[in-house]
Amino acid sequence: MFMAEESKTVVVKENYLVTGKAEGIVEIDVDTFLCKGCGICVEMCPRKVFEWSKELSEKGVHYPVPVHAEKCVKCKLCELLCPDFAIAVRW
Ligand code: SF4
Ligand code: SF4
Repeated sequence: MFMAEESKTVVVKENYLVTGKAEGIVEIDVDTFLCKGCGICVEMCPRKVFEWSKELSEKGVHYPVPVHAEKCVKCKLCELLCPDFAIAVRW
């Protein structure tokens, strides 16, 4: 039986932007310069897409990393609830 290969998330960091990319599903950008580390996105994501960074941002806070973008259902809750407009969900 043919089994489709499970899509995996690739996390890319470029300047202030951390992007979780799940091929053919979604891309989630976190602007680590804007993020204040409040944790709303981490708590409210229904699919637990985010994990906290191990390193600190320029602001000196841990920031959410979209390490499980392949689980994202594109509800945009994280983008809508972020008080600092630090998240963009694209597909
Ligand atoms: S769009 Fe929804 S499922 Fe996807 S990361 Fe944001 S809150 Fe989670
Ligand atoms: S909701 Fe926005 S400011 Fe708060 S941790 Fe998430 S990305 Fe950072």
